Amino acid sequence: MLVVWAGLVQAQTILPDPVGGEMAEMGTQEGLEAWVAAFRPRALAAGIPAATFDAALRGVAFNASVVERDRNQNEFTKTVWDYLDTAVSADRVALGIKAVDRNRDLLERIEAEYGVEKEVVAAVWGLESAYGTYRGDLPVLGSLATLAYEGRRGAFFEAELIAALRIVAGGHVESFAGSWAGASGHTQFMPSSWEDFAVDFDGDGKRNLWGEDPADALASTANYLRHWGWTKGQPWGLEVRLPKGFDYDQTTERVVKPVADWVALGVAPVAGGVLPDHGPGSILLPGGARGAAFLIFPNFQVIEKYNTADAYIIGIGHLADRIKGGPPIAATWPRELRALTLEERRELQERLVQAGFDPGGVDGRMGPKTVAAVKAFQKAKGLVPDGYPSLEVLTLLR
Ligand code: CA
Repeated sequence: MLVVWAGLVQAQTILPDPVGGEMAEMGTQEGLEAWVAAFRPRALAAGIPAATFDAALRGVAFNASVVERDRNQNEFTKTVWDYLDTAVSADRVALGIKAVDRNRDLLERIEAEYGVEKEVVAAVWGLESAYGTYRGDLPVLGSLATLAYEGRRGAFFEAELIAALRIVAGGHVESFAGSWAGASGHTQFMPSSWEDFAVDFDGDGKRNLWGEDPADALASTANYLRHWGWTKGQPWGLEVRLPKGFDYDQTTERVVKPVADWVALGVAPVAGGVLPDHGPGSILLPGGARGAAFLIFPNFQVIEKYNTADAYIIGIGHLADRIKGGPPIAATWPRELRALTLEERRELQERLVQAGFDPGGVDGRMGPKTVAAVKAFQKAKGLVPDGYPSLEVLTLLR
């Protein structure tokens, strides 16, 4: 899958959950070399030519910083407004408009072939690599070998390493550099995503996501979004205003209603007028009841296939809207609230359990079950049940 990392923004990734000791001892260069020797027969059995293997992994370097990043990736989170300030900054919008102008012919051909709007493809490009400017400079094979050897998600990264070696064996890449977890190229594909979704759009016989020319990478991104069901002409979501007395039990991605039902409940676009009907949708409050509200449509779930973090999905969707000339988010955010640390998120879940609610485990992830448990707790306390895991909620649980 794809991992968000553009040097500027990082949301949660869709890597599998880590298993085992978080404070395991750090590996070494000698350990990596021994691992590579043991891995060689497995790679050859998987079809990697010996000459490719030996040339590609000769002198591969253990990268301690990659392991550190892997261990700590869930430690820090941003509030959605802090994230969007960076992800959809005035600069990134302006550069996006220029990127679309500069690549208009290419993006229009991609839109015609894959049915994904040029602004949406540009937005993914903008968030993943700042429109090709920050594609990552870590050796992909070194990162993947380090993570495969280091063990915490060994099987996952070994499979990615074998896919990466197939890319090398096929002569698709010259300089194979990327971000810390092995995602690379203009739109930060993992090697397995390259295998499943990369296309040779410029027809040179190579599916090259890494060179200066972004054609293959942007078409591959459109191909990926089309595969997961992107519907051209439909928004990812719309910013809406909720009426006074709105029943906050009706929020979250789990409550899906036809637009007519939302209209009947008094939901209206912030821009005025009547909600357009783009099929069934849900109300999302990414910053709780005091922040912006969005009516989200099926294309939201398509962007989710790139990265599951709501902030990321809204970032892509909103950046695309802004590149298209749309307005900034109208609502204010509760900027006085800070994000909970990992320790606090775990404590919140522990205390929810103690108070008789089910947050779906104590892992520090604010998933749908935790949101539901926070809502139930808020209701029991007579608060607005928006499900937002704030410091206020944690304080009340203490
Ligand atoms: Ca090509």
